[in-house]
Amino acid sequence: MNPIGVHALVWVGGWSEEEARLAINGTSRLGFDLIEIPLLDPGSVDAEMTRRLLDEHGLGVTCSLGLSFAADISSEDPEVARRGEAFLISAVETAAAIGSEYLGGITYSAMGKYLEPPTHIGRGHCIEALGRVAQRAGELGITVGLEPANRYESNLVNTAQQAVELVDEVGAGNLAVHLDSYHMHIEEGDMSRPVSVCGDRLAYVHVGESHRGYLGTGLVDFPTLFRSLARAKYNGPIVFESFSSAVVSEQFASALAVWRDLWDDSEDLARHAKAFIDQQLGAARRVA
Ligand code: MN
Repeated sequence: MNPIGVHALVWVGGWSEEEARLAINGTSRLGFDLIEIPLLDPGSVDAEMTRRLLDEHGLGVTCSLGLSFAADISSEDPEVARRGEAFLISAVETAAAIGSEYLGGITYSAMGKYLEPPTHIGRGHCIEALGRVAQRAGELGITVGLEPANRYESNLVNTAQQAVELVDEVGAGNLAVHLDSYHMHIEEGDMSRPVSVCGDRLAYVHVGESHRGYLGTGLVDFPTLFRSLARAKYNGPIVFESFSSAVVSEQFASALAVWRDLWDDSEDLARHAKAFIDQQLGAARRVA
């Protein structure tokens, strides 16, 4: 059975103890198995406090991030690439301290709009850095996920095929692919082939709508996605992701181009997402 999760930014924009308690309480109360905590500033996350609150609720945890242009392992500039690698290592260590066995997201480039295609040198830097990051992650029992992102949020990995190629080139057993229905809807031909392209390299799935609002109210072909996951016997996490400036910081809203809000009630949104995922997955398993 797949662990079902929700992204912390559905609940809160920061991670003070008060915010962590609100997010972890809500996630647990609605019957989710895990919460995904963003590590956009790993040093600011109080791992001990987080772990204690998670333990209180018996809740699982995963971590995610997107690199910045100042710390981008796919940069041609070796200094910028080194900063990106140091950032990833620090995030891996924070994830381990929280008790997570997974760190995924835009872990291979900056999360943002590039004005140029990737370069051979930059891609080489990325492969080298991911090898070393995977090694450190392996020592800590962590899988690192590469999440293909749409063309406006990365230039290096937009499709499942590109993610699989990068994972295979690095050649580390604890590197995996992380699919996201929101990005797939923009870049892939359908919701089924990316799942089969990944095969057993698929470790994590984000479900988000085409407009990143309530599931089932946009254009994403969820029945095909869930049926493909069921058919592939995928048993990894399925995590709901949605962003509104009702919750996230102005800076984060700008980074993700949240220019209009599709919801303002976290609890209603998350409850709806949990029921939607359960229903889709349950139906898909019957016909898979
Ligand atoms: Mn995602």
